[in-house]
Amino acid sequence: MPPLDPALDPDVDPRALSDADWRAILDPMEYQVLRQSGTERAGTGRYLQDPGPGAFHCAGCGQRLYGAEHKFHSGCGWPSFFDSVAPGALTLHRDRSLFMVRTEMRCSRCDGHLGHIFDDAPHMPTGQRHCVNGTAILHVPAGQDPVAVFAAHRG
Ligand SMILES: [Zn+2]
Repeated sequence: MPPLDPALDPDVDPRALSDADWRAILDPMEYQVLRQSGTERAGTGRYLQDPGPGAFHCAGCGQRLYGAEHKFHSGCGWPSFFDSVAPGALTLHRDRSLFMVRTEMRCSRCDGHLGHIFDDAPHMPTGQRHCVNGTAILHVPAGQDPVAVFAAHRG
């Protein structure tokens, strides 16, 4: 029996899933980014081109994280957003890896790694660039049911 999928059933607690559950639910790159804090190579991920109106949901648990209206082109090689849909959608953590101090963002529902926040977008309303791995999010086109979009994505 496949593990219960928090993106398909809101009653599933993603924090109760085992590592093996996540491996079974996610594709290998999603697993590497979300569950092992991996980073996709610049310029290789999803959504470097705008997919259109709608929202971007956590590819792990399905929580809505960003609206299309928050996305902007930074040229950094990853999808960039200047804000999230709600302050509670993300949790922030100090990341001291790679000999740098950075602010890591995780999904507040499943604790999946999303990317990092940088204060280098002075032309945007918040001044911030949320540098998100495209692999860590899934676009749900405006007017479509997120569960149906996730079901199709999971295959
Ligand atoms: Zn999540």
